[in-house]
Formats: sequence, structure tokens, C-alpha cells
Amino acid sequence: MRTIDLSGKSALVTGVANHRSLAWAIAEALGEAGSRLAFTYQGERLKESVTSLAAKYPGSPVLPCDVTKDDEMDAVFAYLGREWGKLHVLIHSIAFARKEDLEGEFRRTSREGWNTALEISAYSFVALTHRAARLMADGGSVLTLTYQASQRVFPNYNVMGTAKAALEHAVRQLAFELGPQNIRVNAISAGPVSTLSARGVSGFTGMLSENRERAPLKRNIEPREVGDAAAFLCSPSSSGITGHILYVDAGYNIMGI
Ligand code: NAD
Repeated sequence: MRTIDLSGKSALVTGVANHRSLAWAIAEALGEAGSRLAFTYQGERLKESVTSLAAKYPGSPVLPCDVTKDDEMDAVFAYLGREWGKLHVLIHSIAFARKEDLEGEFRRTSREGWNTALEISAYSFVALTHRAARLMADGGSVLTLTYQASQRVFPNYNVMGTAKAALEHAVRQLAFELGPQNIRVNAISAGPVSTLSARGVSGFTGMLSENRERAPLKRNIEPREVGDAAAFLCSPSSSGITGHILYVDAGYNIMGI
């Protein structure tokens, strides 16, 4: 049996907030596969939590990176360029929309709310990939996290659905542009998992029970399953796959009624 081997690879994992974060499940899967890890955190508020999780992988750099700040993004890649030279994997696991834009009527979304959601949840993927690609001299794998609200209507998900549609387009566009450098760009479309961000969507618990009832596997997914799929997409086992959205949702996306 072939197992996933990422030894000798260097991965930057963004989007860890706490042990429930999908980014943390992905970091654990990459770490188990032998990858060297670096982490970023958004603001001082999360520094301690990310630093204490990262301690499981001694020597992992833990760097500040609020994606609304170009200088913080630049500093992360300058540091990795200096310390590691090359990067093989980028995990983008970042999304945000204001609470008032994750409930009620989508048509009331303010200009500011729209810009915030799209900047943090979609533009940041383009900006981080651009910087990461410069360090991927041996080729690489870039991965982001999306949700099926990019394609279909999930009440209350609202402007985050718009952001995920933009994000999925960016996956294809970046896969096209970076393919010649053997940099693959993919996304995992995860089913609902109770995390800090997910609980910000009004009616999220209803989404969990709806998914459990209707999904072919008759259950919700485990974060570990997102981690395993991510390790596959970042490994040579998926060398022919780019520009792809892989559903890890217990099959929910295939259902009509
Ligand atoms: P989470 O709250 O653990 O992670 C979201 C992360 O985004 C946090 O670490 C937060 O610090 C980061 N972030 C927000 N604004 C930022 C900024 N300005 N700069 C840098 N980082 C910032 O929740 P999660 O569910 O693990 O979310 C990770 C990704 O997975 C998101 O893209 C989310 O949309 C996606 N996703 C989640 C689910 C789910 O049900 N949990 C389903 C499908 C997709």
C-alpha cells in the first residue's frame, strides 16, 4: 500500500485559529506525512493559541499575517525565503464576513460588507498565491477551502457565497497561470463543520442537521477527512490534478431532492 509521503516538503499553513480550525486538521495531516510546517496567525489575539498548537511540531515558524495588510504578507514570504529558501505547499484557509452580512436579506449587503468579505475570503488567496509561487522553484501545490454556496443558494450564507464563487474562479485562473511552473492549484469544498467561522453563519446548526439527513453517507464530515484529502492534493499522488474543486461533504452535493 502506498501512503502519502511529504518528507522534504515545506508547507505554509494559514488560517489556524484554534484546534477546531480546518487549517489545523490539514496541518496535522501534512505533519503526519512528514512535511515541515510554518503557521500564520491573524493578529495578537490569536498568537498564543496558534503558537501553542504549533508547538506540537517543534521548530515551526509562527508568523503574524493579517491578509488585509500587504506588508505582513510580504514579511511572511521574505522570512520563508530567507530561512527555508523554497516552499512546496500553501494552505489558504481564511474567510471572513461581517455578522450582519451572514443573516437576513442578501440584497441589503453594504458596499463595505461586500468588499470586506471578498477581500479577505477571495482576494487574499490570489495575493498569497502570487507571493508563494515565487518560492516554489521546484513546483508546488496550493490549496484553498470553499463551500457549495458558491454554486447554490444557502440562506444566510449570502455574501460569503459570492466570495466563494470568486474564490473558485481564482482557483481555475491561477491553475492556468501557474501550471507551466508545475504549481497545482485546487480547492476542497467541505461540508459543514462546527468551527469559529462557521458558527458565525446564522442558522448554522440547521445546516449541520440538514447535511446529516440528506447526505448519502448519512453523517457530517470529520475535520480529519478534510486533512486527509488535503494531504492527497498536496502530494505527488495527485500530480495530474489542478484547477479542481474536490467535494469532501459526505456526498451532499450530488443530491437533488
Ligand atoms: P476558522 O474560524 O477556524 O478559520 C478561519 C480563519 O480565517 C481563522 O484562522 C481566522 O483567523 C482567519 N482570518 C479571518 N480574517 C483574516 C484576516 N484578515 N487575515 C488573516 N486571517 C484571517 O474556521 P474554518 O471553518 O476552519 O474556516 C477555514 C476555511 O474553511 C474558510 O475558508 C471557510 O470558509 C472554509 N469552510 C469551512 C466550512 C465549515 O463548515 N467550517 C465549510 C466549507 C468551507
